[in-house]
Amino acid sequence: MRKKIIAGNWKMNKTFSEAEDFFNEITDNIESLDLNAVDVIVCPPAVYLELASDFAQESKLAIGAQNCSDKDFGAYTGEISAPMLDSMNLQYCIIGHSERRQYFGESNTSVNAKIIALLKYDITPIVCIGESLQQRENGDTEKIILSQLEGAFTNIDFSKEIVIAYEPIWAIGTGKTATPQQAQDIHKLIRDWLKDKYGHEVAEATHILYGGSMKPENVEELLLQEDIDGGLIGGASLDSSKFSSMIKSAVKL
Ligand code: PEP
Repeated sequence: MRKKIIAGNWKMNKTFSEAEDFFNEITDNIESLDLNAVDVIVCPPAVYLELASDFAQESKLAIGAQNCSDKDFGAYTGEISAPMLDSMNLQYCIIGHSERRQYFGESNTSVNAKIIALLKYDITPIVCIGESLQQRENGDTEKIILSQLEGAFTNIDFSKEIVIAYEPIWAIGTGKTATPQQAQDIHKLIRDWLKDKYGHEVAEATHILYGGSMKPENVEELLLQEDIDGGLIGGASLDSSKFSSMIKSAVKL
């Protein structure tokens, strides 16, 4: 039985004091919860990773970064690397978010290189894939998802933990959520692809998260789908009470 994962992606939001307030609130809110079946991850902007790690040490939170370089060290101004994240004991890093693909030119090839860089340091990549509205309307969703999987996971054997997040681009930050059935269909496609390529055990062990306007009102119906193992949550993860309520829903299921 896979644990559920509730992961928050803050993107480029919050000041330092707002981040502190959030961590104080969320650690209080989850303190008394039985999190044996749910992992909670918060991915703040890189400048708050140290603050987040300090809170995580005293709590049931895990912390992730939102991006990293495929290089270890060197003259790459503005970048942060996997060994840096590792040196702060961070366990997760989001890779290939559609905003990074759209605004920063990331491709399946660069995502692949970053996954390799993270796995070298035993950091679990949360790899985002998803189709645009146009691709869905053209009936190309499955083709796009399969080509993103093939590209991102070239020469990667899944012997270490990797999380996949299915995030239809048309549902990110738009208030439009995929229906539970639409999401389940793609999650099943991803799990079937894992099974074909890596076998039953890997397919059953791999967490596949849904992302795209997940909120307290729709979290339960999405999490009830067989192949949805949790959520990668943007907007609703910025509010500690909404985020806590989604964690509580996951605990209850
Ligand atoms: C995201 O950024 O990964 C995301 C799913 O955003 P939102 O929940 O705001 O749609």
